[in-house]
Amino acid sequence: MSETHDIVVAGAGHNSLLAAAYLAKAGFRCLVLEAQDHIGGDTATEEMSLPGFRHDSCSTAHNLIQSSPTLRAYAPNLTDDKILSSVVKSPPDLERSNGHNWHGSCHGGDMSPEQMGDRRPVPGWAQHRMPIPGLYQTGATTHPGGSVSGAPGRNAAAVMLADLGTSIEEVVGG
Ligand SMILES: Cc1cc2nc3c(=O)[nH]c(=O)nc-3n(C[C@H](O)[C@H](O)[C@H](O)COP(=O)(O)OP(=O)(O)OC[C@H]3O[C@@H](n4cnc5c(N)ncnc54)[C@H](O)[C@@H]3O)c2cc1C
Repeated sequence: MSETHDIVVAGAGHNSLLAAAYLAKAGFRCLVLEAQDHIGGDTATEEMSLPGFRHDSCSTAHNLIQSSPTLRAYAPNLTDDKILSSVVKSPPDLERSNGHNWHGSCHGGDMSPEQMGDRRPVPGWAQHRMPIPGLYQTGATTHPGGSVSGAPGRNAAAVMLADLGTSIEEVVGG
């Protein structure tokens, strides 16, 4: 059975899923294509240390924090024998698991002043519209950048809905 779609979304990170959800709520048929075998991108829950222990691998499993002198000073009983397991991921590991982590950047590209605001991803493309009509970009590479905020997805949906003759307020309020 052939199916038709109004919108194709490449990647199932939380930002593009959020944009697709707004568009679907507006009545558009969306097809989300994901390169990996799971959705969520870097907002993933994985069994990565010991069997049966599942971690939010890109938000709360910050193993490096264990060696922080400040943490050790305030939690003197946190000694090495209490740490059951640790996982080290190099920049190439991060890039291999998700191409969005370009050169190991966990924010879809450095969040330095020259790449922020109306210069993210590059000057002229900051409003989510790409040079090809009907092609849009969202995600950590776009304003306001990386982290699990959903803001790039929400902003991209607002731009797309405006171009499609409606508005995010109408969709959410309706
Ligand atoms: C190690 C690490 C620690 C982090 N810690 C924190 C933290 O503590 N707090 C916080 O707020 N944020 C943290 N972040 C950042 C945060 O996880 C990311 O900024 C956020 O998940 C990006 O979401 P996204 O939706 O923009 O894209 P991503 O989560 O990068 O998802 C993009 C998705 O698109 C897919 N994709 C890419 N290209 C294609 C294609 N051509 N076709 C199909 N699919 C494609 C990818 O496979 C991926 O699933 C961390 C990130 C990492 C890597």
